[in-house]
Amino acid sequence: MTDKIGNVWVFIEQEGGKIADVSLELVCKARDLANRLNVKAEAVILGNKISGVVDPLFHYGCDNVYLIEDPALEPFTVLPFAEVLVKLLKEHRPNILLFGATLKGRELGPRVASSMMCGLTADCTSLRIDNFDDKINKKSYTDKLMQIRPAFGGNIIATIVNTWEDPQMVTVREGVMKVSIPDTSRKGKLIKIKAEISAESKVIKVLKRISEEKDIDLKKSQIIVSGGYGVGGKANFKLIYELADALGADVGASRPAVDAGWVDHDHQVGQTGVTVRPKLYIACGISGSVQHRAGMDESSKIIAINSDPDAPILSIAHYGIVGDLNVVIPKMIKAFKAKV
Ligand code: FAD
Repeated sequence: MTDKIGNVWVFIEQEGGKIADVSLELVCKARDLANRLNVKAEAVILGNKISGVVDPLFHYGCDNVYLIEDPALEPFTVLPFAEVLVKLLKEHRPNILLFGATLKGRELGPRVASSMMCGLTADCTSLRIDNFDDKINKKSYTDKLMQIRPAFGGNIIATIVNTWEDPQMVTVREGVMKVSIPDTSRKGKLIKIKAEISAESKVIKVLKRISEEKDIDLKKSQIIVSGGYGVGGKANFKLIYELADALGADVGASRPAVDAGWVDHDHQVGQTGVTVRPKLYIACGISGSVQHRAGMDESSKIIAINSDPDAPILSIAHYGIVGDLNVVIPKMIKAFKAKV
């Protein structure tokens, strides 16, 4: 049993002075966890000339923000970030540290965890605080972080607990934590820390960066029409686009539809795609595997069109249409157009 409870920390990602959505999602989650543990929610943000971007972190729930600015911290390279972060962790001993399961988080988190000689659970989809009884070693732990994630190809949901001392470190998938409404009157404490970065950590120089905008960001979509392998082919995927156009929706897809090259990976919904929470999700020719459902089962309303009355998607759909999508979708488009 541990008697030492540090604060809950979030590593904040920023790019060109814009805070990543996942970081704000994690700040909201950190606020919940900190309330539950009766400790502070704190953020750590690294970069250069970024002091103007921290206010939202207070609005979304941070008590304190550690700001470290240095030319060597812009753009992101893992060595100086890891060095600065490890020093801070050793000094402040937070109980929990959350990273987004992004390219940066996945590169930085494990490096920091190995320097701290602690574990890291990757790609969590849920987090909560609970007590834990280690039946094998006959020990009890209070207020541990339950690190919940799909395992064995998504066929089970595993809960992972660290039984060693803090920090408990995780990466969390983008889009899975709910963002609360920001309170713009909320204030916190900005703690500026001078970066001490060794020459060894500055060996990598970024000469050129080429960035490409994403085709689409489904996380923000209010209506999504998704096509699965049942759509039958790339040419037929135009039906999905036509229904989406009629409804003012965005297009999603299952992994087999993406793997078959019918639609780009940015459209993939599910465990290895995006997690979406639209007001309306229309699943067309999608069977409803656990891996697909992991990315869309929190949609407010789900309509499923499937020719198989036993398709698992129909068990989570609010409205199920059993039939051939080639017949159903044109009828839906016609009916919708007749109404507007
Ligand atoms: P199928 O399972 O082949 O289902 C097609 C459906 O279409 C069937 O239900 C069928 O009845 C119906 N159908 C066929 N013809 C018609 C028609 N004419 N009209 C109406 N209905 C019709 N999958 C994802 O989607 N996203 C992920 O992120 C993802 N990640 C994965 C990660 C791992 C580690 C693994 C192991 C798998 C992952 N998968 C993911 C794959 C997943 O397991 C399923 O294989 C996949 O979701 C099935 O896609 P589907 O429903 O389009 O295809």
